[in-house]
Amino acid sequence: MKKIQMVDLQGQYQHIKDNVNKAFTSILDSAYYIGGPEVKGFQQDLEKYLDVKHVIPCANGTDALQIAMMGLGLQPGDEVITVDFTFAATVEVIALLQLTPVLVDVDATTFNMDIEALKKAITPKTKAIVPVHLFGQCANMEEIMKIAKEHNLFVIEDNAQAIGADYTFSDGTKKKSGTIGNVGTTSFFPSKNLGCYGDGGAIFTNDDELAHTIRGIVNHGMYTRYYHDVVGVNSRLDSLQAAVLQIKLPLLDSYCQARQKAAKFYSDALSVSDKIEVPVISDFSTHVFHQYTLKIKDVDRDALHKHLLDKGIPNAIYYPVALHNQKAYQDSRYNESDFKTTNELCKTVLSLPMHTELDQEQQQFIVDTILEFCS
Ligand SMILES: *Cc1c(COP(=O)(O)O)cnc(C)c1O
Repeated sequence: MKKIQMVDLQGQYQHIKDNVNKAFTSILDSAYYIGGPEVKGFQQDLEKYLDVKHVIPCANGTDALQIAMMGLGLQPGDEVITVDFTFAATVEVIALLQLTPVLVDVDATTFNMDIEALKKAITPKTKAIVPVHLFGQCANMEEIMKIAKEHNLFVIEDNAQAIGADYTFSDGTKKKSGTIGNVGTTSFFPSKNLGCYGDGGAIFTNDDELAHTIRGIVNHGMYTRYYHDVVGVNSRLDSLQAAVLQIKLPLLDSYCQARQKAAKFYSDALSVSDKIEVPVISDFSTHVFHQYTLKIKDVDRDALHKHLLDKGIPNAIYYPVALHNQKAYQDSRYNESDFKTTNELCKTVLSLPMHTELDQEQQQFIVDTILEFCS
């Protein structure tokens, strides 16, 4: 059996090696390392794939979130609501911009923003909502957009984990995840579903004016060369990364399908155990399984985590600590009782190896090992 990896980037590279090496050689020969034609090319390819008017490439997914918030003109003291159960980048940029993060609990089945908790958290100071499409499926965007409209709030979708997922509204309309709110952001970190070979990110919007503002912000606040109209940042996707992404974007749907197939294998096998809750797919979103995350009940989750590692099966706890319990983000306004689900998830979740190169033999060994432990 091949050695099992949490994410198999070498294996995936082997399938596209010739194209990537050719593209890299051509960029190295041209010395067009920054702002090469690959960047614009990838931007246009992604606009087409997502069916969105504007894609603005940038340096990483964290920058993408920060720049989106700068572009919307959020001001110190404005409250921004996001989830307690996500990667810290989401709340980090809110705090960095001196906005006030307001964390809310998540739904116990999808791990995404809880709609009742969101409603409860809105105050006259609230300016924006940041749903995170966690582990690969969309938050309940129809409800979130309705609430945002009612209260005149911006919606920024953190789409770092769900690029390629499809959202279906109750009238049957479909949209790509990240293109529903005022602005969406993503990350091309190597292990993401659409990953490059370094850092990368992008911002999406259908709003022409916002797109123009953001294009200046990513480039030192310049709209005319050497005239700086606003305080900006330096955040670029480089030519080598754009070339990798141009090669991988046409494969994204097949990558998603490979993940979905692996997820189905896990779920079919593991749902026989009453100690394991397999991922629940909501009816309004497809799931592209950035992570395949179980909930473990009546079995020592941490012991299972260690047992699998001992057997050569990588696995991880995303996320072990709720954001409201992180030193950096504690706030006296929070009540522990408002975070029941997140607190529970931190104690019960376990993510299994998930990538495009998993084979049946590996997956069979993984499920057998888990079922044996849970029996
Ligand atoms: C990865 C990730 C980010 C940050 O992306 P980087 O490219 O690493 O900066 C932000 N939000 C979520 C939910 C992520 O998973």
